[in-house]
Amino acid sequence: MLNLSTTPVIGRFAPSPTGALHLGSLVTAIASYCIAKQAKGKWLVRIEDTDTERCHPKFSDLILADLERLGLHWDGNVRYQSRHLDTYHALLDEQLKAVSYGCDCSRKSLRTYQLAHPNTQYPYPRICVHKRLSRDHAIRLVMPNNLMLFFDQLQGVISGNPQREQGDIVVRRRRIGRSFSNTPTANKGMINYMLAVVIDDALQSVNQIVRGLDILPLTIPQLVIADYLNFPPNQHYYHLPILVNAQGQKLSKQTLAEPIQSYPAPQLIKTALQLLQQPPIDMDKPITMLEQAVCQWNHTPLQGKQRIEVDSLQNLLAIP
Ligand code: GLU
Repeated sequence: MLNLSTTPVIGRFAPSPTGALHLGSLVTAIASYCIAKQAKGKWLVRIEDTDTERCHPKFSDLILADLERLGLHWDGNVRYQSRHLDTYHALLDEQLKAVSYGCDCSRKSLRTYQLAHPNTQYPYPRICVHKRLSRDHAIRLVMPNNLMLFFDQLQGVISGNPQREQGDIVVRRRRIGRSFSNTPTANKGMINYMLAVVIDDALQSVNQIVRGLDILPLTIPQLVIADYLNFPPNQHYYHLPILVNAQGQKLSKQTLAEPIQSYPAPQLIKTALQLLQQPPIDMDKPITMLEQAVCQWNHTPLQGKQRIEVDSLQNLLAIP
């Protein structure tokens, strides 16, 4: 097991540019920054933009502009996953070939199968596992059918059976007939977040992963992928409570969480730290506030916490 007291810490914030930064993603950015910086580590920013249908460069620019305005300065260059597609395809088609297979199930055909087999216990009943379909189809990765564990610094011991809970996950969508862009990898099939995140964390030597609790169920399948690729299991995980609105819905682009863009940086930092149950902070320039936040950071109040209910940004920031 990695000893983070002797190994330099490398943390990261890895937003998907499917919308502008909102309070939920701001809280993740600030927590990951403070946890990495308190350990005198590096804090990287990675744009997870492999999903060309949902991601847009204008959101990447907005997110980075907000981070800069908030004084959240990253170390090194921003990594854009869309610029490394060849790496993901190569690892999938070479190193992961033996544990992956083509699948031609559609949502509709899966639903029909499940209706006809109501006792199926698995999310994906492995319909295509022995069909030997070509790799032009969607590619699924075999998930083990046994209980696995990992330790989360905030949520404790987490266990799960990846075959029962996620099933063989799709790591690449089917190849499309015609390329929408001139890049050579555009028609190779869209790489799923699950594969790219594991590869990048390893290639960037990330050893501290701070993110929302909504991703916790995906961590065990990600550990499986890392193991298939012989990446060392060297991450410390912190899954933060998720922010929910008064209706109990997770704050996300889907619930139309408000962009933070038009609100002043000092108020946003103060509010995010309050939501993260941190000691009070003096209002100042963003960079000075973050320095204080890093010194004071204490994750004990977040331990075992799963949700934080929030009001509208306007009310939280007490803006008339
Ligand atoms: N890109 C993911 C998101 O924006 C986060 C990935 C991660 O932190 O592992 O939800």
